Amino acid sequence: MALVAFDLDDTLAPSKSPLPQPVADLLTALLQRVPVCVISGGQYGQFQQQLLARLDLTPELAERLHLMPTCGTQYYRWDGEGFGQVYAHTLTTDERDRALASLRRRAEELGLWESETWGDVLEDRGSQVTFSALGQQAPVDAKAAWDPTGERKERLRAAVAADLPDLEVRSGGSTSVDITRRGVDKATGMTALVDLAGVPLSDMVFVGDRLDVGGNDRPVADLGVRSQAVHGWEDTAMYLAEVLLPHLDARPAA
Ligand SMILES: [Mg+2]
Repeated sequence: MALVAFDLDDTLAPSKSPLPQPVADLLTALLQRVPVCVISGGQYGQFQQQLLARLDLTPELAERLHLMPTCGTQYYRWDGEGFGQVYAHTLTTDERDRALASLRRRAEELGLWESETWGDVLEDRGSQVTFSALGQQAPVDAKAAWDPTGERKERLRAAVAADLPDLEVRSGGSTSVDITRRGVDKATGMTALVDLAGVPLSDMVFVGDRLDVGGNDRPVADLGVRSQAVHGWEDTAMYLAEVLLPHLDARPAA
């Protein structure tokens, strides 16, 4: 295996939370061996807070890190001084307006528009529009309790998808529904990574918590990338420590 890609929320860290220390240590050890990609529905600011602020990277290791916010519709790489944006596929104003209007209308119709929230429910991330039922800053516990079976998110996703046949509508984190340009999902990001990292899909491993049908990690598995399903960061830490790292020798940076 020549590259390992990870989902972020509920895979490397609790949703919207910083990487726990064991994961930060294991990820650094992994970067000493192979390039690593992190691909998430979250925006770049979350990568900074959850991931980059928790990693103590040398330039050599930073160079091996590929960052794909908003399902890979944006791409960031180390430029020698910091991480900089290489590209972003943004939605048109019309696409964003229709996405925001449908999310609001359908959530209200389905009784999923909550009055008590932590931060914005709707967020325009440029290349992605996101609905977070309890708001962007909702506590992890409240989010976990909101839709434990995923049934509420799925009802909203289906209703909104019917309104927006030209856009991609997927359920994301524990309370969220993400809308991107059609055909743009984590599989698109992983496919782009083949050229960006110079690694064929057959040499990649992907780790994610939503590899179930309809989950935002599923397109990566459907693409044929060897995928490991995990349930939270503890699971990912165990997989890194017991399966991935023992099979990889540390090697000097290229
Ligand atoms: Mg996730």
